Amino acid sequence: MLFLLLIGLFVALVATFYARKLEELDSRNRDIFDIKQASDSNQEPSSVLFVTSHPDDECMFFGPTLNYLVKKNLTVHILCLSTGNYYGLGETRRVELLNSCLKLGITPSQVHQLDQFPDNLKDFWAEKEVAKTIDKFVNLTKAKAIFTFDERGVSCHPNHISACKGALAIKSSIPVFKLTTVNTIRKYIQILDILPSSTNAYLIVSGSRGYRSTYNAMLCHKSQLAWFRRLYMIFSRYMFINTWTKVERS
Ligand SMILES: [Zn+2]
Repeated sequence: MLFLLLIGLFVALVATFYARKLEELDSRNRDIFDIKQASDSNQEPSSVLFVTSHPDDECMFFGPTLNYLVKKNLTVHILCLSTGNYYGLGETRRVELLNSCLKLGITPSQVHQLDQFPDNLKDFWAEKEVAKTIDKFVNLTKAKAIFTFDERGVSCHPNHISACKGALAIKSSIPVFKLTTVNTIRKYIQILDILPSSTNAYLIVSGSRGYRSTYNAMLCHKSQLAWFRRLYMIFSRYMFINTWTKVERS
């Protein structure tokens, strides 16, 4: 009985903390990533570039931040380095990515999907090639910042790690934000991860609307909706919380 009471108190504490973080985030006028918006309202909004490795990375890992930045009226571009063709489903997954991005408020003209890098569970991609490709899209999109994986790539997938290493090797001087990889326990405790995440300077938390948007985007990846991925959509902290490290570059 006492045990249940303690659990109830703990969950209530986390829920309160979570709600407060959401309110705090909503009340901040400026973009948490400090990306300069155009001062003249006639000018186009500033752009940012998300570098992902496979179709579905955008919503499996980056959903909270994508929703946040789209809501902030930034132009969000997705550079997906592979078609996710490991099981020969590249063409299907290309369409799934476009549909998923639409659910997140990102139009097809802002989605750039390449087939130059093979979807592969074992091999790393050539860092220089990845960097050169990212540089090309930074220039094309006039991006003010890059968002990508960190050196552990959330799941240690070599393609995710390659995206990070390529982004850190670019010639452009814009900042690179790396998505924090958390340990396996933290990865699956959903919003409870708000407690260990709360000290991060770049913390993004999704409310119910943001979560629904990410969830609906995930549903577009029909070819990937195995039972374990459906569990992921309910329990993963990345569906609710993103934390980042900023790498300044000169
Ligand atoms: Zn991936």
